[in-house]
Amino acid sequence: MTARSGLGLDVHPLVPGRPLVLGGVEVPFDRGLQGHSDGDVLCHAIIDALLGAAGAGDIGRLFPPGDPRYKGASSLRLLEEAVAHIGRLGWRVRYVDATIVAERPLLKPFIGPMKARLALALRLPGDTINLKATTTDGLGFVGRGEGIAALAIATLEAAE
Ligand code: MG
Repeated sequence: MTARSGLGLDVHPLVPGRPLVLGGVEVPFDRGLQGHSDGDVLCHAIIDALLGAAGAGDIGRLFPPGDPRYKGASSLRLLEEAVAHIGRLGWRVRYVDATIVAERPLLKPFIGPMKARLALALRLPGDTINLKATTTDGLGFVGRGEGIAALAIATLEAAE
């Protein structure tokens, strides 16, 4: 079996007047993530991890920023497109581990629903996705509530 892993990182600013969407789930909060799409940093980090493992560049190459097709797009749909793209390149997703870095809001109640939506988009059983949330104990731009970050690692297997 040929397996490869890829890493993804994304950061978006928190701004008023936007819904906060993480892992395809709308989380009640007074601000949301700025972005050309819905700004879902978790989906974006996972997309970059998938593309990294497949040796297929990055999210900006697959979904060019400013492309009107992706304005306001659901990043969960972009994740589905990325899974289909790496599938055409001969890769299947086997495992994803990811961490959301946010000072607020408390994300624990939303981890389960996020995992369920990501599992569908990734075509994975729920037990092959691990999702975590942490804070930076008040340090840096995350600690000041200026933005949210996400990191992901994806493991792919070459399809037979
Ligand atoms: Mg992004």
